[in-house]
Amino acid sequence: MKRGQAQSRDDAGGAGAVPAYLGLGANLGQRARSISAALAMLDAGAGLALRAVSSVYETEPVGVLDQPKFLNLVARFDCRLSPEELLEAAQEIEMRLGRVRAERWGPRSIDIDILLLGDLRVCRPRLIVPHPQLTRRQFVLVPLAEISPDVRLPGGRTAAELSEGESAAVRRLGALAEAVARETAGDAGSDA
Ligand code: ATP
Ligand code: MG
Ligand code: MG
Repeated sequence: MKRGQAQSRDDAGGAGAVPAYLGLGANLGQRARSISAALAMLDAGAGLALRAVSSVYETEPVGVLDQPKFLNLVARFDCRLSPEELLEAAQEIEMRLGRVRAERWGPRSIDIDILLLGDLRVCRPRLIVPHPQLTRRQFVLVPLAEISPDVRLPGGRTAAELSEGESAAVRRLGALAEAVARETAGDAGSDA
């Protein structure tokens, strides 16, 4: 698989599909495997086709600081689901992968957030799109800029303009498949 590209079935592409950007993160268990499994499950679902995947990044926790480091990446799908259907699909996969809903911003085996859904704006009690923290989180902006540097974000600036590139807080590890292989070999690339 070429970096930044993904092969996929074609059932969600073509006319009528909008680009959905999802942010995935994990800081418990086999982090890379959880993210990889979540991507495969999303891609296998009706109405979603994986189009691009960023590198995986190891990132410092934000908000609740006293917890293990995260792995994060951003993926782009062609999406034919409604916003509510997409949220439901994401939450079902979080549950199937063993996510226990405890404190917000606390440790989790998998988090799947809807960052952008075409030009759609959603403001409901259970769903806000674009994701309200999108432009403030380097752990989202850096991988997003890697796959779609020119995508416009709330406020009008692009992902490339808002992302500050790699830093100690957002460190590029490489392709997800390599991170999965290292994890399987017993070296998760983390001291957590
Ligand atoms: P954050 O959303 O700040 O990254 P979090 O990912 O830790 O926090 P969760 O516990 O995963 O938060 O989700 C809390 C609730 O956020 C969910 O039950 C969902 O209804 C709601 N939510 C609102 N907007 C979104 C969105 N764009 N993507 C995913 N969940 C959302
Ligand atoms: Mg989140
Ligand atoms: Mg979430």
